[in-house]
Amino acid sequence: MKIAIMGGTFNPIHYGHLISAEEVYDGLGFDFVIFVPSARPPHKDNRDIIDPQHRYMMTVLATEDNPHFRVSRIELDRTGPSYAIETIRQFQATYGDKAEISWIIGADSLIEFTIWKDFDKLLDICRFIATTRPNYDFSKAPANVYKRVEFFEITAVDISSTEIRCRIREGRTIKYLVPKKVEEYIYQHNLYL
Ligand code: ATP
Ligand code: MG
Repeated sequence: MKIAIMGGTFNPIHYGHLISAEEVYDGLGFDFVIFVPSARPPHKDNRDIIDPQHRYMMTVLATEDNPHFRVSRIELDRTGPSYAIETIRQFQATYGDKAEISWIIGADSLIEFTIWKDFDKLLDICRFIATTRPNYDFSKAPANVYKRVEFFEITAVDISSTEIRCRIREGRTIKYLVPKKVEEYIYQHNLYL
């Protein structure tokens, strides 16, 4: 079994995330992709991050019409900072030795990968698929990281959650940047105002 993990804060989830996961699924022959919303991202400014339960719900709504996708609560159900190394080990224990677990990582995250807890160990125990992202250059990743990951080019979509949050605060449209159900959820719950 080949399983890909799409980790992220998903604050909120947008079409950049969905396109990345679908194209990796399709191009590299995975059985499914598990979206893993990070409950408490260790390296982000937490003031901007809304309740993980909302981010999880939006991830469910965004992915529920795609049979290639699953969503995991694994990081919500743990305490403490959400470290990838713990998530990978938990999935490896759940799916067993025969399953190959990969992690999809965007170019921006790859560049700062050495701040991830036990990054060297992570590269030993998991296959990393580094995906392209507009305005981020892989070659800026440290050499010891760069040479140990696989690169995968995806359709360039210059959307970020930061830009979406900014638009909501300013009362501007987010239509066609996020799935309709996510847009509706955001307005129903008055998120990011
Ligand atoms: P924020 O602006 O809050 O940091 P984001 O849009 O970068 O949000 P994250 O949840 O931080 O989204 O990203 C999760 C993963 O998805 C990361 O590996 C990131 O590189 C990747 N990713 C996010 N947006 C895109 C995009 N538009 N194209 C390709 N990859 C993306
Ligand atoms: Mg980001």
